[in-house]
Amino acid sequence: MSFRIGQGFDVHRFRAGRRMVLCGVELPSTVGLEGHSDADVALHSVTDAILGAAGEGDIGEHFPPSEDCWKNSDSSVFLARALDLAAAKGLRLVNCDLTLIGERPRISPHRQVLRRGLAVLLGVAEDVVNVKATTTEGLGWTGRGEGLAAMAVVLMDGPA
Ligand code: MG
Repeated sequence: MSFRIGQGFDVHRFRAGRRMVLCGVELPSTVGLEGHSDADVALHSVTDAILGAAGEGDIGEHFPPSEDCWKNSDSSVFLARALDLAAAKGLRLVNCDLTLIGERPRISPHRQVLRRGLAVLLGVAEDVVNVKATTTEGLGWTGRGEGLAAMAVVLMDGPA
């Protein structure tokens, strides 16, 4: 048995008139996230973390924003593809820790639904998935409310 760690980071700008989709769940929000796909910053960071653990590059390489077929795409497609690539190498998710960074939306009222949504998409039990959030105390672009960032770490195990 061997272990592989992967990390992911992503940022999307806030945009009025767009949906706020996190962990595959649409949250009530007066502002959404701008992006070529559904702009699910949470799933993008987790997808990159899985690709990282699998040694499979990054999300932009597998799903170029220049390709129209990914326009408004459901980001769970990206996550499923990353999991397939990892599974092809015999890698299985051990746990996932996700941190959302921004002034809004407030995550705490939605934490459990986000955790459940992410666990379902990852095909694992909720207790190996964690969703947490922080602000940057009003500092920088997140503090000015310009967008939302997400960081993810995954641990995967597989053949030695
Ligand atoms: Mg992204």
